[in-house]
Amino acid sequence: MSSMYYRSLNGKSKKVNFETAVKNGLAKDGGLYFPENVKPLDSNFIKNIGNYSNFEIGYKVIKQFIGDSINKNDLKEILSKTIDFNFPVVKLEKNIYSLELFHGPTLAFKDVGARFMANCLGYFNKNKSKLNTVLVATSGDTGAAVANGFYKVKGTNVVILYPKNKVSEIQERQLTTNKNNITALRVNGSFDDCQKIVKKAFIDKELNKKFNLTSANSINVARWLPQSLYYFFAYKELQKENLVFSVPSGNFGNICAGLIAEKLGLPIKHFIASTNINDTIPRYFKSQVFDPKPTIQTVSNAMDVSSPSNFVRIQEMFQNFKDLSKIMSSYSFDDIETLKMLKNVYEDKNYVLDPHGAVGYLGLKKYLSINPEKIGIFLETAHPIKFSKDVEEVIKIKLDIPEEINKILLKEKKYIDIDDYSDFKEKMFVLKF
Ligand SMILES: *Cc1c(COP(=O)(O)O)cnc(C)c1O
Repeated sequence: MSSMYYRSLNGKSKKVNFETAVKNGLAKDGGLYFPENVKPLDSNFIKNIGNYSNFEIGYKVIKQFIGDSINKNDLKEILSKTIDFNFPVVKLEKNIYSLELFHGPTLAFKDVGARFMANCLGYFNKNKSKLNTVLVATSGDTGAAVANGFYKVKGTNVVILYPKNKVSEIQERQLTTNKNNITALRVNGSFDDCQKIVKKAFIDKELNKKFNLTSANSINVARWLPQSLYYFFAYKELQKENLVFSVPSGNFGNICAGLIAEKLGLPIKHFIASTNINDTIPRYFKSQVFDPKPTIQTVSNAMDVSSPSNFVRIQEMFQNFKDLSKIMSSYSFDDIETLKMLKNVYEDKNYVLDPHGAVGYLGLKKYLSINPEKIGIFLETAHPIKFSKDVEEVIKIKLDIPEEINKILLKEKKYIDIDDYSDFKEKMFVLKF
């Protein structure tokens, strides 16, 4: 086995192995971890990718990032628990495909990263008596995927903070009906307020001493890197030249994982980062200035992020703006355009998008109008049922409710109300895990 180290992009902390990078989440100097080197895969593997199962592809892609931290058989077992569902590619137009990433247990793409991270942490903690507490702020989908992935994972408790009245009914059910080692805190405030509490908790010595806190958002390498598999799975289905991907982007973890897939040798010609009106990166591509504005609430709520954490990783990979703009473009769209796209695609193609996928489709259309020789795949990142209120209003039909959602609709919601940081801290100390 070979070693793999992660260095902090702030450059002040020591490099660490995969296990430490996962446990720390963020380096001590506040920087994001980045793999020290990314070795391209054997070109024969990519040429013959059609002969490999998703599981085999997963192992080949992921193993260099794990180094010596997990042995071969245990890594295989972790992967088999991570990707045991389908990633269909659906043709919608002559040169447009939808990559459906919502067939996991919580119906959004974050299941892969959350399950991989949960299983890695369970593995690292299996012989330890000290519990880890995973603290996570969510705008809806992350919390659900993390709750599901960490459910009954040994040695870990999960505390989820979500903003009151700002997640959909189904998202709230997914967050609050788990019990066992999962606790939901309903914060009287916005997603940003939840994130502030989490950040403050991480530097609170007293809390850290008692709870051994870990983060579970896409800054964690175990949540971020497995997302590169989607691009391999889609390539395997189509195996075409001239492929481009449009990625509905919020915190830019998913698209950054796509860029890693390209570095590993996957022949992808271009990436389109499609955003809602929280358009810091589309503006960056025009002005080369990173200038976040206050976050605005939209129908694609998982992308309501104005300061995307993972963009520093992208800048690290492409230090020269000319190189970056060769491989990546970024466009933003407002809610009116998004819902109109959703309606048109339903009426013309009988295909129901969710609002995030609709933003991805819009970005792809815009790029293909300038580059008509390309073949495009957009990532359909969530099941439309998660946003049924907006979707049903536009397409004027009732969506069928999947079995896994029906089950949770019958369960009672359980959460603890939180007002501010001191209230949070007080209630943490009386939690019974
Ligand atoms: C999280 C999320 C996104 C944004 O992904 P990032 O990796 O944060 O850019 C897009 N769509 C859905 C449905 C999501 O849950």
